[in-house]
Amino acid sequence: MPIYEYRCAACGHQHDHLQKLSDAPIAQCPACGSADYAKQLSAPGFELKGSGWYQTDFKKSGAPAACPAAPDAPPPPCAGSCACH
Ligand SMILES: [Zn+2]
Repeated sequence: MPIYEYRCAACGHQHDHLQKLSDAPIAQCPACGSADYAKQLSAPGFELKGSGWYQTDFKKSGAPAACPAAPDAPPPPCAGSCACH
């Protein structure tokens, strides 16, 4: 099953969803409920390395504990599987 990366345009929440090809796209952000939750077109790993604005920010600030992707929310329980860590 392919893994799709979703991102919320309203709150910045990002998550990888394991979906069958026949599954309907997820249209609602699980973090804030916004309908601006959209599937990203590129593969997750590629996306993060290619245009990771927060990775650049991470290097500048040198603050490894913070999660710039969601400044107003506690860090997601990603267990190191996302780009936050
Ligand atoms: Zn959201």
